[in-house]
Amino acid sequence: MTKKLAGSAAGTAAWVTNVGNEHGQVLMSVLTAAEGDGLLPMAAGLMQRYREAQEPPPRVLYVDRECCSLTGQTKVVAMFHEWDRLVVRLDVRRFARGVTTESHHFYGQFMARLSYSIFEWDKDDIARREKANMSKEGERITKLSSREVARHCHRRTRGVPETERLIQELLDAFWDVKDDLGVPLIDHAQMEEIWSTQRRHLHCIQDPQGVELYTKTGEIRRGGIRLPVYRCARGSTSLESFHLHLCRFIPGNSASALHFQVYLLEGLARWNENRARAAVEGAPRTRTHCYNATAQLRPAHPGVRGSHHGRKLHQAHREYTGKDVIGPDGLGGYQHVTALAHTLVELLHQAFVPQHQAWQIVELWLKLTDRDKAAVSFPPCHQDRLVKGRFKTSRSAHTPGVDSVQRAFLGKGAGAAQTPKASRLVEAMFVELCQVHYEGRTIAGVRVNRWGVIMREYNTIRDIVVSCQTLMANTSINLFLVNQRTLMQW
Ligand SMILES: [Zn+2]
Repeated sequence: MTKKLAGSAAGTAAWVTNVGNEHGQVLMSVLTAAEGDGLLPMAAGLMQRYREAQEPPPRVLYVDRECCSLTGQTKVVAMFHEWDRLVVRLDVRRFARGVTTESHHFYGQFMARLSYSIFEWDKDDIARREKANMSKEGERITKLSSREVARHCHRRTRGVPETERLIQELLDAFWDVKDDLGVPLIDHAQMEEIWSTQRRHLHCIQDPQGVELYTKTGEIRRGGIRLPVYRCARGSTSLESFHLHLCRFIPGNSASALHFQVYLLEGLARWNENRARAAVEGAPRTRTHCYNATAQLRPAHPGVRGSHHGRKLHQAHREYTGKDVIGPDGLGGYQHVTALAHTLVELLHQAFVPQHQAWQIVELWLKLTDRDKAAVSFPPCHQDRLVKGRFKTSRSAHTPGVDSVQRAFLGKGAGAAQTPKASRLVEAMFVELCQVHYEGRTIAGVRVNRWGVIMREYNTIRDIVVSCQTLMANTSINLFLVNQRTLMQW
């Protein structure tokens, strides 16, 4: 994200530090030139805000680095010196970074056992939950989905000795596991380094004594039994997903210091609003949100949705004819992109493309700038991994061989799912689909979230376009594969 800073501010920041509260709201977001540097004013400001609001100081702070120090007091504790009862804890997921790839066949199993090694479920909660399920389903015990278990049950850490033993067993069991393609699950060198450092921090991931991490936010009745609904404040999970969205708060590739700040604040305000709503309603997040600044044009009345809105926006685009419109990436010719995108989105209402319409689309295609017409070049899916430092391994760590093997097996034409921003045309189509669908929808009695609906429609358009001979022969429209995951990260 810091790379988007342009003009006189370019290159002045390299790190983003975010502090969130137990509701996942971001209290502070700071850009600094170096890791951990110059954060003192941030800490002072936070302490002041708590003091002035007469809020009791926080009891636990989850960090993703520098949880403890061999020489006594850690930097973090020193920084928040006013909060004398503050306990610093390490976020658990940092441990998982040594595994080769998330798409590995055994990744899920490994992670589930890792979680089991660290946490145990509260037995009373589980028993209550099972009883409720049984009474509802008659004699049959239905398996609890992990989501249900997480909503209705507490868990706690197992303590250092037990976790150490269980993780060692887990590593021994999975050390040489390979999938059908011979790709190992664990990168030995990396995992050895991680485990040797992380075992010193096992006490840092234990739940703090005397702090209630669970809040009961509601209750549901199932099979005549009341089940509490909990929210858990452990770790920084909610901030982790925040990082994915943060970059998209700022549209395009560059912004001046002022615009950067305004977009950032606007995005943060939206994020916090949504977290606040979730906290008050006590509802789990049923709807996924998109924080992409370019997709934020909302209908004036959230209750009103439908294609007439998209049409109105489109007419606005049409009035620009003759003028060059700059796209979100800062390049011109965008009016042709939106015109084509709109026509393609309109195809949704028909089963195929009639001949005369196909030629209209070809005409629109020909108007595109050469850059938009050129073959889509996808951003690289891998990066060289960083092995230096305790936590430098990025989540998408690349293991030589894994990506290329997988790609070869997917075959030509299939390819991995891409982010919509790889092409202005595809991105414009998603912007339009986002405007039409502000909410989810019920399809055949099943509630589908907004992104599910959008994905479905994009794929329909894709099928219609691909099956049209005229379009395939005369244009190189590339509606590549997008999935919900790449869409969410857009
Ligand atoms: Zn530690």
